[in-house]
Amino acid sequence: MNRPKMATEKGVPSNSRVMMLLGQLERMNGDIVRQAETARQVTAKILHLIQTQEKSGKEVMSKGSSGMEVILASLESTRDVQTILNILSILTELLTVGRGRRVGVFVSKGGTGILFHTLLSASKEMPPSEELMLQLHSLLAKVGPKDRKFGVAARLSGALNVTVNLIKQNLQNPKLLLPCLQVLRVYSTNSVNAISLGKNGVVELLFKVLAPYSKKNTSLLKVALDALGALLKSKTNARRAADGGYVPILLALYADWHRNDARHRHMLIRKGLLVCLRNITNIKLGRKAFVEADGMRVLYNSSTECLPVRTLDPLVNTSSLIMRKCFPKNRLPLPTIKSAFVFQLPHVPGTGPAGRTYSQGPGVDDVVDESDDNDEADTENDTENEEDEKDQQSPVSRDNDDIETDLNKLHPRKGPGRPYEELRVYERFFVELSEDFQGFNFESSKSSSNTSLSSPFSSSVAPVRSPPRPIIVPTAQAFSPKHTLSLPGLPKDPQLPPPASASSPPAPLTPLQLDNIHVSKDQEKTEDSHIPTTDRRDRTLSPLGRPPTEAQTIEKDLAHVLERVSLDALDGVLPLDADEAHIGVKQDDVSVTRQIQSPLLLGGLSARRSGGGGSNWSSDCGSEGPEDEAAEGAVLEVPDTALLLPLHDPDLYVEMVKGTLSVPQYAEVAYPDYFGHVAPTFREPLLERVYGVQRAKIFQDIERLIHPNDILDKVVYDLDIPSCPVIEDDGESLKFNSQFESGNLRKAVQVRKFEYDLVLNSDINSNHYHQWFYFEVSGMKVGTTYRFNIINCEKSNSQFNYGMQALMYSVQEAISGSPRWVRTGTDICYYKNHFARSSIAAGGLKGKSYYTLTFSINFKHKDDVCYFAYHYPYTYSTLKMHLSKLEALRTPQIYLRQDVLCETLGGNGCPLLTITAMPESNSNDHICQFRNRPLIFLSARVHPGETNASWVMKGTLEFLMGSSPLANSLRESYIFKIVPMLNPDGVINGNHRCSLSGEDLNRQWQSPNLELHPTIYHTKSLLQYLAHIQRAPLVFCDYHGHSRKKNVFMYGCSVKETVWQSNISATSSDLQEDLAYRALPKILSQIAPAFSMASCSFVVERSKESTARVVVWREIGVQRSYTMESTLCGCDQGKYKGLQIGTRELEEMGAQFCVALLRLKRLTGLRNHQHLLDLESDIIGSQAKVVSSSCPTTYVLDEDEPSFLEAIDYSAESNDEDLEAENERAAEVREHPDLLEQLSDSDNHRE
Ligand SMILES: [Zn+2]
Repeated sequence: MNRPKMATEKGVPSNSRVMMLLGQLERMNGDIVRQAETARQVTAKILHLIQTQEKSGKEVMSKGSSGMEVILASLESTRDVQTILNILSILTELLTVGRGRRVGVFVSKGGTGILFHTLLSASKEMPPSEELMLQLHSLLAKVGPKDRKFGVAARLSGALNVTVNLIKQNLQNPKLLLPCLQVLRVYSTNSVNAISLGKNGVVELLFKVLAPYSKKNTSLLKVALDALGALLKSKTNARRAADGGYVPILLALYADWHRNDARHRHMLIRKGLLVCLRNITNIKLGRKAFVEADGMRVLYNSSTECLPVRTLDPLVNTSSLIMRKCFPKNRLPLPTIKSAFVFQLPHVPGTGPAGRTYSQGPGVDDVVDESDDNDEADTENDTENEEDEKDQQSPVSRDNDDIETDLNKLHPRKGPGRPYEELRVYERFFVELSEDFQGFNFESSKSSSNTSLSSPFSSSVAPVRSPPRPIIVPTAQAFSPKHTLSLPGLPKDPQLPPPASASSPPAPLTPLQLDNIHVSKDQEKTEDSHIPTTDRRDRTLSPLGRPPTEAQTIEKDLAHVLERVSLDALDGVLPLDADEAHIGVKQDDVSVTRQIQSPLLLGGLSARRSGGGGSNWSSDCGSEGPEDEAAEGAVLEVPDTALLLPLHDPDLYVEMVKGTLSVPQYAEVAYPDYFGHVAPTFREPLLERVYGVQRAKIFQDIERLIHPNDILDKVVYDLDIPSCPVIEDDGESLKFNSQFESGNLRKAVQVRKFEYDLVLNSDINSNHYHQWFYFEVSGMKVGTTYRFNIINCEKSNSQFNYGMQALMYSVQEAISGSPRWVRTGTDICYYKNHFARSSIAAGGLKGKSYYTLTFSINFKHKDDVCYFAYHYPYTYSTLKMHLSKLEALRTPQIYLRQDVLCETLGGNGCPLLTITAMPESNSNDHICQFRNRPLIFLSARVHPGETNASWVMKGTLEFLMGSSPLANSLRESYIFKIVPMLNPDGVINGNHRCSLSGEDLNRQWQSPNLELHPTIYHTKSLLQYLAHIQRAPLVFCDYHGHSRKKNVFMYGCSVKETVWQSNISATSSDLQEDLAYRALPKILSQIAPAFSMASCSFVVERSKESTARVVVWREIGVQRSYTMESTLCGCDQGKYKGLQIGTRELEEMGAQFCVALLRLKRLTGLRNHQHLLDLESDIIGSQAKVVSSSCPTTYVLDEDEPSFLEAIDYSAESNDEDLEAENERAAEVREHPDLLEQLSDSDNHRE
């Protein structure tokens, strides 16, 4: 044995008394057994010194002293009880001081093992010395919590049984029982120990210690409860307790302590009892026993009594957690979770969500699982080889799983994806690249104020123009596509460098040739062929894209539209000519206006609830009550918003709606879309969360179970009854409606007099994605608080927990001059509820629940019609109206063309805009500058629920069409190609995320299907075409909304930053990348107050490999390919810090994006496109490099809020493990804050 030598360190006089005694002890160690008497005396003297002189203890424990080693060595070798007792007393004295550092020294010297060894030998004495056992356990109890390996060491040494036996033999001996229980408590925190102790009857044993209220032995009881609570974390032990009938006992004990502990002196005991209950109810059997023992009522009543005392919150919170777990799971009140609307696809995809939805048989109950018995297999790894130091996957490596590590995928793909022959049809969308303006009179257009009539550049088809004659265009980058086309002998590889003589003239474009290229007819035919015409109304041409020059065509179209609409609204008299058509529109306006009246506003005239052929509203369940008559004659005044809303026109809006095709065939227009929205001038701060709001809501939910007689459960709106979604009206319920464009509300159930459960509809051809809502409420009473609960939300957290409010639009307010959406609602929170989620809709996971978004409302006006929405609505018809109004903003200097890129599955046109500046003249130089402007490609609204993206896009479009000098030079600098709404069908039909194919279109970019994803297919083709003619855009940006983060920010693509985030080793050539991709976000963070650079990320994730951003970067080779995410909530930095975001801020963001593009150009001087890249990185490089080296990680949390806000209530799982794992993770994050950067919620990518 390695004998420690006494140290004679400086500072510790070797001649000090205690050190001399230790030296003596050390010399004795070899033969301590024989010198028992001396050892006894020496240790007694040491003990005396340490007890009487503080400095002695310090000397023993001082750095460099080997005092502890000597003491431990003596303890290990001696057999003499008195000596052992002396040494244990010495150790007790030493370890009581010094806040754990001394215990740390003790543990590091192997002290724990020696104590166990001593315990084992002492236990073999018959009978064991009680004093010795007491001392040993006291010391172990002190040391255990500080020793990570304590549990394993105890089990391996056999100490568990020694302690358990002592407890069994000393149940009536509190003095010894207490330290034994304290040690047991530490043993039990080890999960393997817990199982083994459970097998040895320790659960039952501990129940013998528990007792009703008494002032005696409370510390004993507290420790026993702690130990029991730890043991019950093991599912086998929990089952043992439930089977043994201990749940009612715990409940009775809790009630007893609750009743008697009037002054709350024993909170910890009460909490201990609850923790035991909490852990038992983690298993199904435990929950069953709890409910059978009337646990819900016991805890509900006690909690209600505790509520007024704030210090009892821990009891209320734990009770609430238990009750939520045990609350019997309900099924959603729906016949199926599939959307209430059906759209027949041209072909059903074999795989994917839509495929699965279709393949599911009609008889299957998909609302809940057949049996939720398997939701937790109550199995436990009772394996003994499970050790404390489980090599758990660190959160870092787990979360980095999503980072793309395949270097091949991290480099832009070389070579074209498709042959040019396939792409050449897209040439017609790029007229500006070959336009020569030879037939265009610049002089007259400059002087004319009414150019729109003569301008050819707004047609949806190839503009009519005079035969072009060849002009010589020395192209900077590429040769024109016609160039390629007209030289059949030339290889069509666009990678080929342009001919040395770049000025060789392209072949002339003859009218004949133009006709060949002109494909709109063919295109339409092609589209027709793959879109089924069954069960669809006569498709009419959308007025979209019809230039004012085609006024007559419009009128014709409208007449045609009217014919159809008249089925719903009018006894249609077909207008015969343009003038009559105009009158017809007016008439129809009145009618449509009536249609949107709530009976309360225009009772007797209501067309909505009265009979009438063909309409959805020809139902017989509508009310024709007296109030309808009474309100007759009420006049609807349309607020005059023309000045405030230059791009809004109610009449035009209605026209647009008529041309919009929806699956449910909407016959109504929602007021807010009709009147428009004027952003309020007041600030709308993030809502401060009221303390305990969630708990209060949950208690109200629990009351449904406790007081079932108070519950009405009256269905007041139900889309699943197609002919009659509004259930009879007795004046006691609110009326709901969602049957208008972008509307989403499937069902409303009146739960209590002023409380409604609302159910959202799934995206069409899908069985989930409930988040977006938009519905109308009427029939409200003033002066009372209504509570709304949206009960089938799916996300595990929401910005509604962090200051976001829903939006409300009051028609009364609108009529009185304030047409606007306002952030509304109090007592808002978002929490897991007791509605079971079918595994079919939860990605195969069983035992999941839905979430409730709850908010309360006080209505200001009687007889109001109010609308609620998840975010500021922006319908497809609104877009068409805005585009039509934008057309009117065109000046002679602006080149604006609106094309229809393609038709959607639902038969709606997908607009494509081209905006740039007209050339100054048709001189070669000017035409050349015109054609060679770099392209900027923008898109938005691929996700229908992200309406904020449309508002940002509106800001962009308005800025681009503006008359400011900035806008002017922006137009002169670039050609903008914009697809403002990539998913019109989803928007129209109130989807949250998908198109009619039931798929997320932003996951289809790798291989979009022509039939199922036409907008993506054609948008990608446009980009492929551009890549082919070597005109790939300088910037690509897809606008999105983010539901779980604040601010506006960008996702980009960087090989370097991706490699940094992963463990892959890359050669330095892989890391050759300039920082150009950082320039635009950097500029935005400087000029746009809502934009936050810190939230940006440039990592390429595997889960996003089929998003627009990644595909355009990789396949099209656009280095500046972005997703721009705008918060749905608000900002936590910059000028708007603490405010919720509104349409003004969103539109400003869209405008600032344009300004940033201009600055990007100024920063670099766009003379030479290629040179630009280097320059740019030179200029911004130094700064960006600093940023990136100090914080290379921009891979951020999807959820940027602390996960522990009111966590106790928030994360109540039917299975507590999640919560614990979460807490562990949170603790880990607190310890290593840098981890936070790397954690991400993998199932919640919002892009
Ligand atoms: Zn999105």
